[in-house]
Amino acid sequence: MPQCLHDQEGRGLRTESTPSDSLEDRQVQPETSPFRQATAKWIDPVTGQFRPRVMRVRSNSKNQRNILETVYGCTGALTNDGHGCPWGCYAVFTCKKLGADFATPVPQTLDRRVLLRDLRRVRQDWVRIGIMGDPCFAWTTTVEACEVVRESEKTPVVISRFWVPPSDDELRTLAKAGAVLHGSICALDSDSFLGPRVRVCQDYLRWGGRFVWRVVTFHFDDTTQTGLDLWDRQDHLMSGDFGGIDDLRPLVLETPARLMKGRKQRNPTWDHLGEWAYFKAPTTRDHRFTPHNHNWTAGVLYPERDACWVGCRKCTVQCLVPQNGEDSATLEDFLEW
Ligand code: SF4
Repeated sequence: MPQCLHDQEGRGLRTESTPSDSLEDRQVQPETSPFRQATAKWIDPVTGQFRPRVMRVRSNSKNQRNILETVYGCTGALTNDGHGCPWGCYAVFTCKKLGADFATPVPQTLDRRVLLRDLRRVRQDWVRIGIMGDPCFAWTTTVEACEVVRESEKTPVVISRFWVPPSDDELRTLAKAGAVLHGSICALDSDSFLGPRVRVCQDYLRWGGRFVWRVVTFHFDDTTQTGLDLWDRQDHLMSGDFGGIDDLRPLVLETPARLMKGRKQRNPTWDHLGEWAYFKAPTTRDHRFTPHNHNWTAGVLYPERDACWVGCRKCTVQCLVPQNGEDSATLEDFLEW
């Protein structure tokens, strides 16, 4: 998931994409914080780091009970002025509130018996791996978890920014387990960031795996040259005309960015943006809008792309991709909602 494209002042693109190691950015709360006491079961109150625990199939307010975390945390939290990925990482935001050290990834423990028992209760035929952390920080564990998911006759779907690329052996095993790899990218990613991800995609396709680019889209400011260049770059990513090999092409899934405005610190990405509308996302509890989700989005910008089979208005993940071209959620839709 993330990558910093902005310089220290938050202006312009930069070619380097290595997460900074700044400890000040981590904002770990004092041990006595009420948040710390409430979350002591999964966050160590002394270090602020996630505890390594036996992984279980879980749900959250946006996803049904088919999510699995092989790793909690992600070093990408240190990029983009501490906002995580250019679109602003919700997990970073949540962990800042909880006083958790999200920037330190902590692999979870796999207990085959426990996981198989959990998986038997999953109604969906797929399991999403990677929400509150990037699975790339523990490929051995992630690959083993995918094998167990496969054993339960479900499809593992791994969502990652590939900060750490999997080895050839790991890719082969993932392909054998039928894992679908999703690589999150966006036009604000530099070439030096995209290059290694494209190689992962090509290798995976070569081993017979299924790969999906999740292109996070923005409505860039088309009154500036930088904004126009970013539009071109985004069009190129959305064309899917990269990262394939010969006749093998990955799918391209548009995931319109949902940005938080941020009262204290502004995400530098906003410097490049044009049109946005405010909307409230539904939760899994009642599939209705809640007053607690504050998202800004430009909606679907590439309705002709179609890699999703779920209706936007019914889907709790709210990536806002159209269903077979019929159910696209555009900026106008959000203004009406
Ligand atoms: S968890 Fe994902 S979205 Fe968040 S900072 Fe890491 S890679 Fe980016």
